[in-house]
Amino acid sequence: MKKIDAIEKNLKGRLRKNISLKKYNTWKVGGNAEYFYEPYDLDDLIIFLKLVKNQHVTFLGNGSNVLIRDSGIKGFVVCLKNSLNNFYRGNDGIFTFEAGLSCMKIAQISANQSFSGLEFLCGIPGTLGGALRMNAGCYGENIWKSVDSVVLINRSGNLKNKRKEEFNIDYRNVDLDDGNFFVSASFNLKKNRLNDSSDKIKELLKNRRISQPTGLPSCGSVFKNPDNDSAGKILDSLGLKGYRIGGAYVSKKHANFIITEKSAKSGDVEELISFIKHKVLEEKKILLETEVKFIGIK
Ligand SMILES: Cc1cc2nc3c(=O)[nH]c(=O)nc-3n(C[C@H](O)[C@H](O)[C@H](O)COP(=O)(O)OP(=O)(O)OC[C@H]3O[C@@H](n4cnc5c(N)ncnc54)[C@H](O)[C@@H]3O)c2cc1C
Repeated sequence: MKKIDAIEKNLKGRLRKNISLKKYNTWKVGGNAEYFYEPYDLDDLIIFLKLVKNQHVTFLGNGSNVLIRDSGIKGFVVCLKNSLNNFYRGNDGIFTFEAGLSCMKIAQISANQSFSGLEFLCGIPGTLGGALRMNAGCYGENIWKSVDSVVLINRSGNLKNKRKEEFNIDYRNVDLDDGNFFVSASFNLKKNRLNDSSDKIKELLKNRRISQPTGLPSCGSVFKNPDNDSAGKILDSLGLKGYRIGGAYVSKKHANFIITEKSAKSGDVEELISFIKHKVLEEKKILLETEVKFIGIK
């Protein structure tokens, strides 16, 4: 790998050293990134990956489904949330969105052009890249339902087109070969009547405000729902609402949400998750799986 100064000279994007990641995740916890890079555009990202040559790289979107550990992340964190945010509309309802676009923006863009299928993304506070990796969804929908194809980039900066059929798509997870990341996705959307999608978006956002602690630092649902059951209902039945460790506590509004206070450490959240898992296993004989991804040095 070339020296950092030499790499930086070749880039249009911002490459910084030792950056706190608290600002870059919705729990607002965690340590520093050894190096933090925000690409200017796709060409800049390709140049960057060719220059850092197979170093350890972690991609981050809006950090709304990750627990970043207090010891931080070694190597390079590539954050797409402020870049790669173009979109193109082709013929017959094919829309291509870059991976840094927010889910909210994608819902609005397609709704404003009277195409349906992605309205449910409106309340999901992530980027497209994160949503593809997590197979984000709600209200019976998920993002991969309307995906046609995606473009991946690997650690050497090479691009590859892949069709939806080439992926294993699971509940809140899509497997990616190590060192591959999403840079864009094309969707096949259906034309609908003017305002239908915008009305649906308003309704969905209202439902969220009623049922979830929106506006407080969280990562959404922490645990996946077990088959034919609801993780939130299980935690509620065990009286866990309000239970706290350090600066992290179980939301009183929705038991599958963990909220952090300003003083919270990532370790508080991890300990609370572990406590809940043990309690549910002991009392209900159910092994809960986390939806949230843990990243960084243990
Ligand atoms: C209030 C709230 C409500 C939520 N509601 C929902 C909901 O209804 N449904 C739902 O599914 N989720 C929900 N979430 C969780 C979260 O918003 C989604 O999972 C979202 O899709 C994550 O996107 P992100 O950009 O924040 O990803 P991040 O948290 O940044 O990353 C998530 C994972 O994806 C990887 N990743 C990020 N970008 C890329 C990329 N370009 N290529 C490859 N891998 C990448 C990361 O390394 C990490 O492993 C909610 C979260 C909050 C805070």
